[in-house]
Amino acid sequence: MYTENIRWKKNDMKTTDFYPTPVVHLSDDDISGLYVKREDLIPYSFGGNKARKALLFFDEIDAGDYDCVVTYGSSHSNHCRVIANMAAKRNMPCILIGPSEVSDETFNSKLMQVLKAKQITVPVEKVSETIEKKLSELREQGKKPFFIAGGGHGNIGTQAYVDCYEEIKQYEKANGIRFDHIFFASGTGTTQAGLVCGKLLRGDDTKIIGISIARRNPRGRDVVLDSIREYLDEYAKDHPHGISEEQIQDSTIFLDDYIADGYGKENTEVREMIKESLIRYGMPLDATYTGKAFLGMKKYIKEHSLENNNILFIHTGGTPLFFDELK
Ligand SMILES: *Cc1c(COP(=O)(O)O)cnc(C)c1O
Repeated sequence: MYTENIRWKKNDMKTTDFYPTPVVHLSDDDISGLYVKREDLIPYSFGGNKARKALLFFDEIDAGDYDCVVTYGSSHSNHCRVIANMAAKRNMPCILIGPSEVSDETFNSKLMQVLKAKQITVPVEKVSETIEKKLSELREQGKKPFFIAGGGHGNIGTQAYVDCYEEIKQYEKANGIRFDHIFFASGTGTTQAGLVCGKLLRGDDTKIIGISIARRNPRGRDVVLDSIREYLDEYAKDHPHGISEEQIQDSTIFLDDYIADGYGKENTEVREMIKESLIRYGMPLDATYTGKAFLGMKKYIKEHSLENNNILFIHTGGTPLFFDELK
């Protein structure tokens, strides 16, 4: 399963045309080998890691006889926007349950409306019971809902980033380069879990470093560890390398030093970083995810004197959030 890279879409989309996403070199004053993998340029619904995950979830949906989709996320959610888009394409009702605490209008939430998703907001402590209720209500009506966890969490989402890790290895091979460190914004940790699983399955020593944009340790890292174990349990039971708990622990680096004031809470430094990236590289970053992670990565590199290493930053998307920032 984990080496299977070629995937066909029902519904006239061939995802092999979407990948690999481009890797570009950035000219940086301090770091000579700084590269970015532009997951934000996945050519579907403004791209991003949520698009890569959603494309796999819909493989599963297309293979079954589901007739509606239910998922979770705030009005800022890149995940909900992509899911709404993929459901709309299939003429499938899409129900998005979100916390009323984060329900202000954004470009993502406007897109969800345009795509005719049904948005239900409830206080955050009511979210899980609302999801349960909605699912049983739909089933009582004779519908077959497919539920996707918030952010595309779960083994399917993890698989998406095992695939991405393979792309990175192919890029290295084709270009005669080896990345010592891979950095990216870590939220639910699914992206990180996929990259770490990809590394463990291959037995590489690349350092994979998730920059937390919200969760503190130990919980943040524990969630990543759980996702890794869950994936390896399902897909790598008979793996020839035999992956140990110690290897899993050693490979999971989740830094909570660059969260600033919390999820979605930006600061002047992040805003400056976003401006600099736009001017220097013409590359949009956002204040919730990629801007924070890019800044965190730069600080980490300085603190650990990694300027002479080959570094890959994964741009995980969130383009509509960049435009919210412009307002
Ligand atoms: C969701 C998201 C992340 C975090 O991904 P996880 O797999 O949840 O850790 C990072 N960047 C962007 C732009 C996102 O939308």
